[in-house]
Amino acid sequence: MNNSIAQSVVQTLEKVLSKEKDSIALHEPVFNGNEWQYLKDCLDSGWVSTAGKYVDVFESKLAEFTGAKYTIAVINGTAALQLCLKLVGVGADDEVLMPALTFVATANAVTYCGAIPHFVDSEESTLGICPEKLEDYLCETVEIKHNECFNKKTGRRIKAIVPMHTFGHPADLDPLSQICKRFFITMVEDATESMGSYYKGVHTGNWGKASALSFNGNKVMTTGGGGAILTNNEYIAKKARHLSTTARLSHKWEYDHDCVGYNYRLPNINASLGCAQLEQLPEFLNKKRTLVDRYRDVFEDVDGVSVFTEPDFARSNYWLNVLLLNEENIVLRDEILEQTNRQGIMTRPVWKLMHRLSMYKNCPRMELHVAENLEKRLINIPSSVVLNGHN
Ligand SMILES: *Cc1c(COP(=O)(O)O)cnc(C)c1O
Repeated sequence: MNNSIAQSVVQTLEKVLSKEKDSIALHEPVFNGNEWQYLKDCLDSGWVSTAGKYVDVFESKLAEFTGAKYTIAVINGTAALQLCLKLVGVGADDEVLMPALTFVATANAVTYCGAIPHFVDSEESTLGICPEKLEDYLCETVEIKHNECFNKKTGRRIKAIVPMHTFGHPADLDPLSQICKRFFITMVEDATESMGSYYKGVHTGNWGKASALSFNGNKVMTTGGGGAILTNNEYIAKKARHLSTTARLSHKWEYDHDCVGYNYRLPNINASLGCAQLEQLPEFLNKKRTLVDRYRDVFEDVDGVSVFTEPDFARSNYWLNVLLLNEENIVLRDEILEQTNRQGIMTRPVWKLMHRLSMYKNCPRMELHVAENLEKRLINIPSSVVLNGHN
């Protein structure tokens, strides 16, 4: 009986994917636009590194697309997050709230600042931080002194919170912003998965004081490797640009630096890819919606499994599609992973939760029932733009 549910999941996936190649990736990039032309232009002109017109063009197109006032293109999403945190004032021995259900880079970026991740639970309706649980938890756990938030147990300052928009689905940003105000906590959005996702009509990355995007090879659009900082704060924008370019003071020939900066600026070659990808992004997003509609359609008839759908307030990019098993079918997760991967259909479970990783197991955390439950029930299924679902 059980086994037949696993089999029907595999067969249902095959209905959507049957005409594809022998092996179907979780998410592969598409380069059907002006990528070759812009890349060639970089090579022909010799502008391949961190100076060049494509970096500036990419930044202004990103600002236009996201509605953020300022964008700073950097080498990857992790570096973007690290700089965001540093620029909002996260420093040594601060705690930073973040979901336990995230990719390790969120926690690593906090660690690079000398700060300590503090894990909070998620909610099933968004797959992001649960505002209600967070508020109750903070009421018990923190005290406010001189407009700063302190963890009563550890004595450390809780400086920031990093909501992450899981698989492109926006976390519930309005109540989270309210909590930030009430508890004097600064928000930095990990919007690395949510390029092209909107919360109540506004692009993600506009709620944080600073926010991070990623253009890694497996994201909705790619620059090979790359990322960006979004902010609506002029001071942070200036500092971000300065810090990401070795903190060099502007001068025609002199090399003078006023602090320890970073070599984080995105190279022109990568930015040229980004310009071409951005031109195609609306089409990518449409295709991804077609694919999830198709998945929803075919899985309607399969008992015990559902296709995750964006929250009411959101328009999601559907970066990675999600199957959620019902409680009774938790035992089937590994069987489904096994069978699909054996058939060449790449699927995978969610990341191992942060508090289970050896380097983060002693970090402060609340109880994480929802995240732990989602971990057992969640399967990512193939979501590339090329899989338009019309087989
Ligand atoms: C991809 C990703 C990052 C990091 O982006 P890179 O560009 O790979 O450094 C950070 N956080 C989350 C949640 C991600 O999915």
